[in-house]
Amino acid sequence: MSSTARVVITEIMNQVTNRNPNEPEFHQAVWEVLESLEPVIERYPKYVEAGILERIVEPERQIIFRVPWVDDHGRVQVNRGFRIQFNSAIGPYKGGLRFHPSVYAGIIKFLGFEQIFKNSLTGLPIGGGKGGSDFDPKGKSDGEVMRFCQSFMTELYRHIGADIDVPAGDIGVGGREIGYLYGQYKRITGLYEGVLTGKGLAYGGSLVRTEATGYGLVYFTEEMLSDNGESLVGKTVVISGSGNVAIYAAQKAQELGARVVALSDSNGYIYDPEGIKLDTVKRIKESERSRIKNYLKDHPHAQYVDDWQGIWTIKCDVALPCATQNELDEASAKALVTNGVIAVAEGANMPSTPEAVKVFLDNKVLFGPAKAANAGGVSTSALEMSQNSLRYAWTFQEVDAKLKNIMINIYRNASQTAKEFGFAGNLVVGANIAGFLKVAEAMLAQGVV
Ligand code: NDP
Repeated sequence: MSSTARVVITEIMNQVTNRNPNEPEFHQAVWEVLESLEPVIERYPKYVEAGILERIVEPERQIIFRVPWVDDHGRVQVNRGFRIQFNSAIGPYKGGLRFHPSVYAGIIKFLGFEQIFKNSLTGLPIGGGKGGSDFDPKGKSDGEVMRFCQSFMTELYRHIGADIDVPAGDIGVGGREIGYLYGQYKRITGLYEGVLTGKGLAYGGSLVRTEATGYGLVYFTEEMLSDNGESLVGKTVVISGSGNVAIYAAQKAQELGARVVALSDSNGYIYDPEGIKLDTVKRIKESERSRIKNYLKDHPHAQYVDDWQGIWTIKCDVALPCATQNELDEASAKALVTNGVIAVAEGANMPSTPEAVKVFLDNKVLFGPAKAANAGGVSTSALEMSQNSLRYAWTFQEVDAKLKNIMINIYRNASQTAKEFGFAGNLVVGANIAGFLKVAEAMLAQGVV
């Protein structure tokens, strides 16, 4: 490791920390990428000379706005809305909206920054962005969620467009929220265009979008296993979360012959040694919007433990963290390794702490980082954009085949790039470098903008 590259990276990291104080998640995401770019900086000084690194860590635009709305009791509520347009070198900004009380600028920046490299890895022409609000949809009526979404879009519409910035869902933003947001956009602008993805099938949505992140995660995992002489058949799988990503990861893993034994929410986890019954989970989470512990009402032989982090102490072959950032720490990683885990792939964004990632890499656990492993959602969103532009709809099989192909290519690209730069088997480095190179080349070509 050359000291010059290290000095450059340390200087940029100091700038990021000083410019964005009190945003630890953003610092963590930037550090993880910069650290793995050392061999690139050594090989290609042109990127440093053109200030690519300084530019790539600074969002092109950050929009923060007031979201006033009226609750069911007639009281005025005020939330804060965000859209961070991070990088448009290779296409219009693209990235989800997160509605969760923990949302602040640092969370949206970390997600937007990661999105740049993830979107590049998909091979599709999409830039990086992210948005959201500290609004908590939990416990709100449909009417309250609708009024909030309408108010949110009443500001956001000025900044987005089918060829400018195309938001999608994330934590707390599913089909219901996208529908309300789309309705308001159309009402204000009069445009019927593909400005959001994750839309309902009746109004321009794509088949497979709902399943895409979870399915894509499992396609990626299967490819990673198969490259190492393994497969999901007969494997025991633990998945955290029980939202969109977790449910469809579980479904595809089961289809491919694995036994999924645990799921969780932000209160606790369920363990069903006979294999999770997904119909029950879908009813609880998608229709009733209630808590995962209710699984025991239908399946009393299962166990519920009131400690969401304890899920990583369950013995398994494959672990798929699909809930939220930093949910899997060093102690959890050690517990997984002690119990013989062979593969970990991240469905959530940055779910493993840096210390946990180190434990996996040091112990030769196959490790699929989020940027690569969960890119299926945004890939299928880009396929939704293509279909909207074509005024056409592909079949489920067509979209699914494209998704699978994209995930296999992402795995191979990350794996090959890691090898090329002397880090064979390290998909963290491979994914970061492969994602970076395309964006950096586009930025170089477009001059100082
Ligand atoms: P959902 O809102 O559908 O589900 C989130 C799940 O994670 C819920 O089960 C939730 O439990 C749980 N969760 C949230 N916060 C915490 C917490 N602090 N501790 C423990 N559990 C928690 O979101 P998604 O499934 O869409 O997103 C999950 C992850 O996947 C996020 O990191 C997101 O950024 C990432 N992702 C999502 C994509 C998509 O297409 N949806 C694409 C790529 C990445 P509870 O109900 O109790 O809140």
